[in-house]
Amino acid sequence: MTNPLPSSVDSPIVRFQGVTKRYGPLTVLDALDLDIARNEKVALIGPSGSGKSTLLRMLMLLEDIDDGLIEVDGRPLTHMPGNGSLVRASERWKREGRSRIGMVFQNFNLFPHMTALENAAEGPVAALGLSKKEAQARAAELLERVGLADKLDHYPAQLSGGQQQRVAIARALAMRPQIMLFDEVTSALDPELCGEVLNVIRHLGDEHDLTMLMVTHQMGFAKEFADRICFFSEGKIVEQGTPEQVFGNPQHERTQSFLRAVM
Ligand code: ADP
Ligand code: MG
Repeated sequence: MTNPLPSSVDSPIVRFQGVTKRYGPLTVLDALDLDIARNEKVALIGPSGSGKSTLLRMLMLLEDIDDGLIEVDGRPLTHMPGNGSLVRASERWKREGRSRIGMVFQNFNLFPHMTALENAAEGPVAALGLSKKEAQARAAELLERVGLADKLDHYPAQLSGGQQQRVAIARALAMRPQIMLFDEVTSALDPELCGEVLNVIRHLGDEHDLTMLMVTHQMGFAKEFADRICFFSEGKIVEQGTPEQVFGNPQHERTQSFLRAVM
């Protein structure tokens, strides 16, 4: 049995339709379809090189797709209306669509010459036109929420990896995104620092009307956190379902062998 229930969702907040991405001869995403419901928490799992990060990068429009369509809230991100049909999106159109999405990467990507507060306040000033004072008030509140009220004036080098990653989460949230993307956000951390970051993510899931997509190798967390697990193999989602379905009773041979190896 392959690919049970490509769950169709009414008015999804994110829709990938036949999305294909190639690097030279390599097809990294292969006509991929995926609908994500508002406020849904989705974990993307699968072997290294199967296309999980590429999917998130395409949603952030970090690069163009080769075929297909990506929509956010019913608005095509990759294409826009023109000449009676959809044409390739302009940079401005992409920027506007992307502004609803926040992303946190494996390697924090903080500005080293800015304090935690300045890092988290920078986006709202630069991209949303908030005053420095308004942006810093928003940033301070978010840093408090991720447990860093006493670190506002610290530079990244003065913070642990877990603290830096929490600054990165606060920085993404400062843009008030509807959708948050997390790409292996704990894999650069020592095991004892993963918990504090996962706790922040867990609370975000509870407190906010946020749709979340997370690439993770931590199956225990995926199981507890996600409404839906999507298993990737070679640029396709070969199996998806609830954590109970995918972890408890995987159908596809590749899911079974992957889970045997990692759990
Ligand atoms: P995953 O996140 O599942 O480990 P990725 O999405 O990072 O996988 O990568 C999927 C495939 O695409 C890999 O084979 C990777 O080497 C390739 N790839 C990713 N980015 C590039 C790029 N910029 N140029 C060429 N190949 C790439
Ligand atoms: Mg990856």
